[in-house]
Amino acid sequence: MKLLEERIKKDGIVKKGNILKVDGFLNHQMDVELFDEMGKEFKRLFADAPITKILTIEASGIGIACVVAQSFHVPVVFAKKAKSLNIDGEVFTSKVESFTHKRVYDIIVSKKFLTPEDHVLVIDDFLANGCAVMGLIDLINDSGATLEGVGIAVEKGFQTGGKMIREKGIHLESLAIVDGMNDETGEIFFREQ
Ligand code: 5GP
Repeated sequence: MKLLEERIKKDGIVKKGNILKVDGFLNHQMDVELFDEMGKEFKRLFADAPITKILTIEASGIGIACVVAQSFHVPVVFAKKAKSLNIDGEVFTSKVESFTHKRVYDIIVSKKFLTPEDHVLVIDDFLANGCAVMGLIDLINDSGATLEGVGIAVEKGFQTGGKMIREKGIHLESLAIVDGMNDETGEIFFREQ
């Protein structure tokens, strides 16, 4: 999606450790008009899927997911990061290893909000090694809902998540794929799509 690539080029900041900071428009301060265009693009890319629910993970996926959900006219559910897990049978749980914070945490979704009747589109801001997305897919599988696909704003194509998810036959759409970054020059290289 050219609009997103242009914005990343203009406002994205390359940090050491293969981190791309996009907090000026994507996951801290948020450009909701840009999100609206992204929502329309995901709607076009998943037009044939009978989506009933958007699933994301707190915190940075929530803003994008809400605007995407408006394009699909469906609710958003976000997986909560649980500090201490008190499994009472009311929640689906999975584990996610954080790429940015280098720790493992539990994620939970109430069983009320994911059911076998649901057709779910997973939305997140970044795809790196794929842990966050795989954790969300675990929750969907446990619930008996149908995974319709995964929509990502920025995929880091030089990390393993995208390849792993595509190899599982999952419909993955990333609006921008970064194939390389240089933290000295600040250059960002995008995959032609
Ligand atoms: P994964 O689980 O795919 O390894 O990492 C995805 C999660 O880590 C995303 O939800 C995102 O919050 C965070 N993340 C991964 N790489 C980056 C990055 O380069 N920049 C930012 N801002 N977040 C990232």
